[in-house]
Amino acid sequence: MGNDCIFCKIVKGDISSYKVYEDDFFIAFMDIFPTAKGHTLIIPKEHFVNALDTPTHIAEKFYPIISKIANAIKQAYNADGINIIQNNGSASGQEVFHSHVHIIPRYDNDGFRVHPPARLQITPDELKLDANKIIEAIQGK
Ligand code: 5GP
Ligand code: ZN
Repeated sequence: MGNDCIFCKIVKGDISSYKVYEDDFFIAFMDIFPTAKGHTLIIPKEHFVNALDTPTHIAEKFYPIISKIANAIKQAYNADGINIIQNNGSASGQEVFHSHVHIIPRYDNDGFRVHPPARLQITPDELKLDANKIIEAIQGK
């Protein structure tokens, strides 16, 4: 894939980026519109839309790289915490449809929460039904 994909162009070097990491499978580079200083994106070099279509042989290599870079950024920016975020699908906020993970340094009292507030009133019975629905879905895979 890739003719119209901005991140494929970054992988090929057709669009410039401030790269911080590269290996055979992944690159990481600075987000051009950072949420906080040090906000970095990590992407597979090969084009996948998001986490849901990324094959296991790539996905299993991804988390160790995410962890390595997140720890480096936490240290470099003396952050109190780190958000590791992946949006999957436009309903979730995904805007670039080449799989990527955001690494965002966070500080005590920096004034925002990525986690949305609880909005549903739910009973233990309903939670149990939800759990069963997901168990069935997992078993169907
Ligand atoms: P999404 O909303 O898809 O999870 O996030 C896409 C991210 O890509 C956004 O944070 C946005 O700032 C970043 N972005 C979009 N275009 C470019 C670009 O051309 N270069 C870089 N470095 N980041 C980009
Ligand atoms: Zn792409």
